[in-house]
Amino acid sequence: MHFRRLKLSGFKSFVEPAELRIEPGLTGVVGPNGCGKSNLLEAIRWVMGESSAKSLRGGGMEDVIFAGTASRPPRAFAEVVLSAGTAAGEDLEVVRRIERGAGSAYRVNGRDVRAKDVALIFADAATGAHSPALVSQGRIAAVINAKPTERRAMLEEAAGIAGLHVRRKDAETR
Ligand code: ATP
Ligand code: MG
Repeated sequence: MHFRRLKLSGFKSFVEPAELRIEPGLTGVVGPNGCGKSNLLEAIRWVMGESSAKSLRGGGMEDVIFAGTASRPPRAFAEVVLSAGTAAGEDLEVVRRIERGAGSAYRVNGRDVRAKDVALIFADAATGAHSPALVSQGRIAAVINAKPTERRAMLEEAAGIAGLHVRRKDAETR
């Protein structure tokens, strides 16, 4: 899977709609401290289905919505759109939107889907929200200090079998 484009609106410090094209090859994000580099990476994880607010440096999931500054009012919602090309050559557009008091909603290629469906798409592409392919600040230390059970989950994701667990859980609750 190849990420082509990221659109953000009201997500953390990206209060005005912003669009980034992701070209093939290596992409670097540079800028002064606090300019929003980590927020960009978090936007990618968020639209891919991240369910832990804490791992996005927030107390609750609504903390991803622009909180306002002295000169700008807070936003009522945050939206991130990730456009990608799949390994099979298909176009994929995933949208996640959160509104205050209303939780998250997802769309894939224009259709309303469940968080679970989005998780499966990326688990199958072996680039899930917690995939070792996305290494955030402090994550290396976290891997080294992880308990064996936590490290096992990371290895399972790296081995590409995380999607099977999602399906097993789903089957067990039916
Ligand atoms: P560093 O180089 O220090 O790692 P960075 O470029 O990664 O910095 P980020 O951590 O992405 O910077 O951005 C931090 C900024 O985002 C802070 O100014 C913070 O106030 C702002 N921010 C985070 N969440 C929100 C929010 N919900 N609303 C408004 N601003 C936010
Ligand atoms: Mg950072």
